[in-house]
Formats: sequence, structure tokens, C-alpha cells
Amino acid sequence: MARAGLTVTLVERATFPRRKVCGEYLNSGAVAALDRIGVLNDVRAQAFALHGVRLVPPHAPAVELPFTSGALSCERETLDAILLRAAVYAGVTVVHGRVEDVLRDRGRIDGLWVRNDDGTAYEVRARWTVGADGCGSIVRAAPASCGIVGSGRALRWAALHGIRRPRRFRRDVRRRGRYFALNPLSHDMTT
Ligand SMILES: Cc1cc2nc3c(=O)[nH]c(=O)nc-3n(C[C@H](O)[C@H](O)[C@H](O)COP(=O)(O)OP(=O)(O)OC[C@H]3O[C@@H](n4cnc5c(N)ncnc54)[C@H](O)[C@@H]3O)c2cc1C
Repeated sequence: MARAGLTVTLVERATFPRRKVCGEYLNSGAVAALDRIGVLNDVRAQAFALHGVRLVPPHAPAVELPFTSGALSCERETLDAILLRAAVYAGVTVVHGRVEDVLRDRGRIDGLWVRNDDGTAYEVRARWTVGADGCGSIVRAAPASCGIVGSGRALRWAALHGIRRPRRFRRDVRRRGRYFALNPLSHDMTT
């Protein structure tokens, strides 16, 4: 939006770089998206290239599937820092604060109510408000009169970042109806 000439304010409560629970896998669609926004070279320079996937079903032989297009794994701390830097470079103003509510005017959102770390609260007025605030989104929770529909789907995922790459799979984690994935971050570490 900033590149298109709009004045953009990004309100973020976290201090970057920050940890984010994630498998840290970038599939070919994500890689293509990073290319479109012009940050792929920066990401690739700090990522680990993935050439395929090895599926290990509980009661069948393992299958290896090569990727036909590139996939990467990249630590979220690194990826998010690159994206934030690109936004700032494009002219986005980054404001550190917690969004507490949306501002409404005749059934439409026209900005945000933001609180700083020191407790002061203020309004950020905007013609358009984009809720990019993750699975606990304040913006998505705004009343239906604002025309927003949320999925409300419960998350049942967990991730362990930067563990030493195991040599063998343990049988007891391969439960029916569940799976886990090892995503290499380097030659000896995995998520
Ligand atoms: C265990 C796990 C593993 C995953 N593995 C992968 C994977 O391998 N590959 C993949 O592509 N995806 C994976 N995902 C999904 C991926 O992490 C999410 O889809 C992605 O992070 C969502 O991006 P987002 O921008 O919507 O939200 P987020 O990345 O959560 O970003 C939301 C941002 O908004 C900020 N924010 C939130 N609330 C407020 C507020 N009130 N005020 C101000 N700022 C606020 C947060 O600090 C954060 O920076 C995984 C998810 C989980 C849970």
C-alpha cells in the first residue's frame, strides 16, 4: 500500500526481532510471494533450501517426494525482520503500541484505539483499516456491523524451534490422525 502511494501506519505491539511460534517452512507459494514483493534475495541469503519432503507413515514404508519448485526454511525472527525492514523502506510509519479496539463511524471502522507501553492511549484515524493482527485478532472480533467474518477455528498446532536434528524418529509420536514435521533450519538444527 505504501508503494502504491498511500500513507500507511503500522501498529505493532511486539518489539522486533521477536520469536513467533511457527514451523518456519516457506512453501513454493510463499517463496513466489516473497519474490513478488522484492525480498526473496534477502530471505534466501539467510534461509535453508529444501529440495523435497520425506513422508514417514506409521504403518507403511517412507516415501521421498522431490519439490518441483523451490521451498525454504527460515527463522521467523529473520523473516519478520526482513518484511518489517521492507515496509519501513517503502515508507510505512511503524508505531509501537497495543491495539485495544477499533474506532467506528456509522457501522464502518475508521481507525484504531492504541495504548502505549507507558499507559497512554490515543486514536489512529484511517480511511482503511487492515487487520493483520494474527489469530487473536482484535479487528476480526469487531462487531458484525463492520462486515467482518472470522473463522474462529481453534488452533491445535505446536512448534519447537531450533532443536538439534534427531537421527531417528521415535515411534510413540506417530499417533493415528496426527503428524509431526521436521523442518531443517541448518545442517544440524531443526524446527
Ligand atoms: C505451531 C505453528 C506452526 C506453523 N508453521 C508454519 C510453517 O511452517 N509455515 C507457514 O507458512 N506457516 C506456519 N504457521 C502459520 C503461520 O505462523 C501463520 O499463518 C502466520 O504467522 C500468520 O501471519 P499473520 O500476519 O496473520 O499473524 P502473525 O504472524 O501472528 O502476526 C500478527 C502480528 O500482529 C501483532 N499483534 C497482534 N495483536 C496485536 C494488537 N492487539 N496490537 C498490536 N499488534 C498486535 C503481533 O505482535 C504480530 O506481530 C504455523 C503456525 C503455528 C501456530
